[in-house]
Order: sequence, then structure tokens, then C-alpha cells
Amino acid sequence: MNYFSLNHKAPIVNFEQATVQGIAPDKGLYFPESLIPLDKLMLETIEFMSNEQIAYEVIRQFVNESIPKKELRKIVEETLRFDFPLVKLDERTYSLELFHGPTMAFKDVGARFMARCLGYFNRNKKNQKIRVLVATSGDTGGAVANGFLGVEGVEVIILYPSGKVSDIQEKQLTTLGQNITALEVDGTFDDCQAMVKKAFLDEELKELHLTSANSINVARWLPQMFYYFFAYKQLKPLNKKLVFSVPSGNFGNICAGILAKSLGLPIEFFVAATNVNDTVPQFLQTGTYEAKASTATISNAMDVGNPSNFIRIQQLFNNDIKALKEYFASFSFTDEETKKAMKEIYSNCDYIADPHGAVGYLGWQKVKDEFPDSVGVFLETAHPVKFLDIVEKTLPVKIDIPEQIKEVIDKEKKSFGIKNYEELKRFLKK
Ligand SMILES: *Cc1c(COP(=O)(O)O)cnc(C)c1O
Repeated sequence: MNYFSLNHKAPIVNFEQATVQGIAPDKGLYFPESLIPLDKLMLETIEFMSNEQIAYEVIRQFVNESIPKKELRKIVEETLRFDFPLVKLDERTYSLELFHGPTMAFKDVGARFMARCLGYFNRNKKNQKIRVLVATSGDTGGAVANGFLGVEGVEVIILYPSGKVSDIQEKQLTTLGQNITALEVDGTFDDCQAMVKKAFLDEELKELHLTSANSINVARWLPQMFYYFFAYKQLKPLNKKLVFSVPSGNFGNICAGILAKSLGLPIEFFVAATNVNDTVPQFLQTGTYEAKASTATISNAMDVGNPSNFIRIQQLFNNDIKALKEYFASFSFTDEETKKAMKEIYSNCDYIADPHGAVGYLGWQKVKDEFPDSVGVFLETAHPVKFLDIVEKTLPVKIDIPEQIKEVIDKEKKSFGIKNYEELKRFLKK
């Protein structure tokens, strides 16, 4: 399988080139040229397969000749060394917990997979380093730092806004050392993002081989398909139709779910649940796509005003908004509604949801009456400990600090302060 640019003005590339470049030279997102539906027998017998087997079968066609089979199996096994439990909240509602990885947010899978692919691609080019440059509002930085730690030939530079990530998030991205460097930017997330984009376009930095590690990159985006197969495997014995509600920011996760459906996974409907950053819900209502500046919320990993992956979702439906609406809806929820949902989930189901998961839960509540024969799965994308303040203020609970978090809390923060693009450039050229 090859990839084309959604701006249609760049050469077709294979998986390796798409991963190493991150974004096409015409600034378009890469998109698979063709999709081969999965073997029906595989879906019929999925409950007898291990997660690693499922993931390998799902991702194989997307990687194709870029990585040999044996190597790809190893990458998948190393990526998936934790659980993806499905927790039943009531007769029709399930939480798919995607936070059991090292940084306790769902981005671990994509980051770990991408890191190992880049490590493979760089196996013989020991002196031509790849530099991964990434801006984070919180969770991406930790997942990328952890996923890429110790990968030879790859250097990771993370830009984060000083004072605007949680203490735990900051520790996760500033304490690892080795090939990971944290740049603490005197500014906002948008400033970090703008600097990263500028660096990718900077002719003077061409020889540095910069690539991105957010869900624009196919190697981080595609493995997110696995979640939907893992949920299906666990729910198949119920013999019910499935609706997924996905708390969405950049829309990479939900786009991967829709891709899974395109491969044959029987999913009835998708809900993209957002916080007040409602660019996509507005688009579905009005037909006009209007990017906005992001608004800060309690589900801050979804504070995105111009979701990068929505263009991929439209492509999956051939840019036909009517076709899209048959399988997809999007709703926006306020912080007040989110907190109310956290309380409701806690008192009715004895379950602690983080603010992102609660937004996902609300998405399912919105449509459940329209799908009386289905069960709903909302994706719980972060462990409540990552949003400790809000969770402990909203619910009468005290969260135990898990091992993964304890490990970083006492480590020493190490970061370099930068103020502007010139300082970033100087740093990169060093
Ligand atoms: C990144 C993130 C999201 C949003 O995922 P997208 O793929 O960007 O839509 C949701 N929840 C948490 C906890 C995240 O870290």
C-alpha cells in the first residue's frame, strides 16, 4: 500500500517515506491509496486471537514492504505490552480503558508503535539522525518521550508551554533524559505549535531530517485502529450492534475507528464528542467549516480549534457530508455538563471517569435512544490521576497514585527555556 497527499500535489510514497516525512511536501496529510477489507474469517474468529495477532493482521497492509513481517510482529508485540479492558457500567454502556500504558493516556500505543518503526527505518543510518519535533499541550509530550526513550538514531525535542501543563504531565516529559529534550516555551500551546510548523517549513533546517510525532504522522495515527478491534473482540459474544463514542480533539482516534470500519469491522455508528471547541459539530450543522482559536477547558487534551484529522474523515466518505452523517454525528459539551456527567457516572455506576471519558459518555447518552438494539462504548482516554485536581474537586474520592506516575513524580525536571523561534532554531542547529 502507498500513500498520497490529501493536497494532491506531492509524489506517492510508501509507509517508510510517509512516516519519516510526517507531512507531505505540499503540506497535505498522507492517506492510504487503497484499502483491502480484512478476511471475514478473521472477524468471525477474532475472540480466539491475541491482541498482538489482531493488531498484526490489521496493520500489515498499511506497512507492507517497508518492514519485514517478522520485524513488524516484534514491533506490534512490544507496542502492546499492557491491557485494554472493557468495563461494563450498565446494561448498555461500556468504558474502553485505553490508559493502562506507561503514561496513562491512550497516545501511548501510537507513540510506541511510531518510535519502533522509526528505530527500524534508521537501523543502518547511525550517523544520519532523525529528529522528532513535537509540540504538546500535555499528553502527547509524555507519550512521545516515553515511547521514544532509548530509540537509537532518533532524537526527540518536545516543546511545551511553561506553566500550562499539569505537574504530572511536566514530569513525564522533562525527567527522562537520554535522547529526549524538553524545551519550555515562554508562551501558549499555540505558540509551540506555530514554532514547530515553522521549523518544518524552514529551508535552512532541511538537512536536520525533522519529522512530526502527532497524529498527522501515519505511524502514530494508524495503530489507533487496534482499540476498536479489541473492543469488538470482547463484545462479540453479546451479539449486539456497536456504537462508539470518542472524546475528540484532533480527531485522529475517531478517524482510525472509521478506518477500522472501512476494513470490515462491523460498527453501527460513531459519535465524536467534543468539549466547547466545537468546530466539527458546527460544521455538521451548518455545512461550513470554520477553524477557530482554541478555548481552554477541563478536558484540555481536546482543546483544538482546527482538528487536523477531520480532513481524513471527510476523505473516507469521499467528501460527501450526507454519506458521512449516516454513520457519524458530533456533539459538543460544556465543562459544567462534563462535571455533571462525572458525578452521574460515579453515583449511578460507581465508576470514576476523567473529564475526557465523561465527554465520551455524554456523546453516547445523546444518541442511545436512537439505537435501541446497540450497546455503546465510550473511549476512556486518560487515567483520572492525570487530571487529579478536577477529579478530586468534582467527586468525593481520593485517587491512588499508580506506579507509573509515582516513578516520575520524584525525579528531577530538566528543561531548556526558549522564548522565540530564533532560539529554537539555534538550539536545533547546535
Ligand atoms: C489526545 C487526547 C484526546 C483527543 O484525541 P484525538 O485523537 O486528538 O481526537 C482525548 N483524550 C485524551 C486524554 C487525549 O490525550
